[in-house]
Amino acid sequence: MIQVNENYGEVAGSYLFSEIAKRTAAFQESHPDVKVMKLGIGNTTEPLCPTIIAGLHKGVEKLSKVETYSGYGAEQGDPRLRKAIAGVYQERGVNLDSGEIFVSDGAKCDSANIQSIFGLENIVAVQDPAYPVYVDTNLLSGREVTYLPCLAENDFFPQVPNGRRADLIYLCFPNNPTGAVATKEQLKEFVDFAREEGSIILYDTAYSAFISDDDIPRSIYEVGGAKECAIEIGSFSKSAGFTGVRLGWTVVPFDLKGGQFPLEGGQVNGMWNRRQTTFFNGASNIVQEGGLAALTPEGRTECQETIDYYMQNARIIREGLVEKGLNVHGGVHAPYLWAEIPSGLTSWGFFDKVLEEAHVVGAPGSGFGNNGEGYFRFSSFGHRENIIEAVESIKANLKL
Ligand code: PLP
Repeated sequence: MIQVNENYGEVAGSYLFSEIAKRTAAFQESHPDVKVMKLGIGNTTEPLCPTIIAGLHKGVEKLSKVETYSGYGAEQGDPRLRKAIAGVYQERGVNLDSGEIFVSDGAKCDSANIQSIFGLENIVAVQDPAYPVYVDTNLLSGREVTYLPCLAENDFFPQVPNGRRADLIYLCFPNNPTGAVATKEQLKEFVDFAREEGSIILYDTAYSAFISDDDIPRSIYEVGGAKECAIEIGSFSKSAGFTGVRLGWTVVPFDLKGGQFPLEGGQVNGMWNRRQTTFFNGASNIVQEGGLAALTPEGRTECQETIDYYMQNARIIREGLVEKGLNVHGGVHAPYLWAEIPSGLTSWGFFDKVLEEAHVVGAPGSGFGNNGEGYFRFSSFGHRENIIEAVESIKANLKL
């Protein structure tokens, strides 16, 4: 008999978005004439900006001529793109060598795969609630996971796990799902902890482009000492609309030695390089041309307009929910709003209620972890007219 990875039994059936899709489909089937409005999933909806489209076309064109054709590229990414990403960090005072940046086909794969270079005996700490990938990939690998509650009481920023072992610590700011951001001082607490304890922070910056306050760090490396204890994962998905195009990166600083861990095989950078060159054949060359275009001054200005559009959606949702009397967090430096559910209802109960009464789909907080219970996530990714229609329907039809 074939042995399967029995850890799959631990996470089976827990995938949030398939349950949302199932309940939505069942509702739609029993109410075929009702228009269901979706504010549930963090998927981009607005077209790519013209500069990116031109970059992608250029990538295609290059493949049409023998002089410019390219096959496999460097697994670590096009050197021009690695340099361009380093340039963006430089603007925030963070000096990175291109060799510390690994281009990938997205932050999901990187945040899922990064654990594979660390031993199974490490204890993993994750924010609760959190983007489900961190927890599930570690459970699937058989690691122990410990949770760092993020609640209204602590402004959705976790307490440093003092007195508890936390070898690998996943942090994500701006946060999915709570929409919270972290200050430099708050991040410093974790950097200090990690340096002292020999832990490694895995910092997910997929939503950094949504920060509009200059004082809020976009990268953990804006905090002194972070290069010795943190890996950072970034994405073009939400900043440039690449959710379907697929492009991201991971920064593994040369200074990251792994603290007290017996990291066989040398530094962490070398291990990630080995991992990527073994398991991954590089991001698409066409897509990387698109990424390069996104990082030009014109590309960035155009991308910012789309981000502003989503953030205007966030304002509309926030105002509507507040008018309805709900307590709402996030949605200021992040595309997600985290609403407190009126007492007496579970977050799945509230999901059904919002769907049945307002015909709006959101995401129940409990799907992101136990401490998400009692909360509900609204996403501001969507066409303006749909967002307005959904908010108007909540205001008119939801019975609180
Ligand atoms: N990290 C977080 C926190 C996310 O919310 C998402 C997508 O929703 C991702 C990573 C995935 O990013 P990518 O599309 O680059 O794989």
